[in-house]
Amino acid sequence: MGINLLTKTQKIMRNGKRATKGFSNRDMNDDTYKLRRAVMTIIYEFKNRYDIPRQIIRIVDRVHGVKSHDGWHNVIGYAGMGQNYVHIRGDWAEKSRAKLLPLVAHEICHSVKAIDHDDSCKLMSPIIVDMTEDEVWRACDKYLK
Ligand SMILES: [Zn+2]
Repeated sequence: MGINLLTKTQKIMRNGKRATKGFSNRDMNDDTYKLRRAVMTIIYEFKNRYDIPRQIIRIVDRVHGVKSHDGWHNVIGYAGMGQNYVHIRGDWAEKSRAKLLPLVAHEICHSVKAIDHDDSCKLMSPIIVDMTEDEVWRACDKYLK
């Protein structure tokens, strides 16, 4: 079940255009472009369903040999709490919609409404698990409507 990887949030104010410590913005190549397109497609669906501000989306990579924040080594995505930016790790995130939707939805809830992790909620659990589309939208309705 699930991707079983962590997501993290930034609680401090920072510039969403730059990757966080130990990560770098990925150069644009076909693969990155495809992943970014897939993420943007999902973001547009959120904009159609909910009243959310513009989001800064970046595809990032872990920088080999550079320390990140404690416990951040394995993160596949992170967001600024209420800061309207989402960074997805390009070398780990799967490009299939079924895997991306719960990940992006989770980060959007952090990014737009500063929703905290919640072990009792599949969507906001810090460990991303597989969810059906229906489950994702029902959980998002709870946070974003
Ligand atoms: Zn998270």
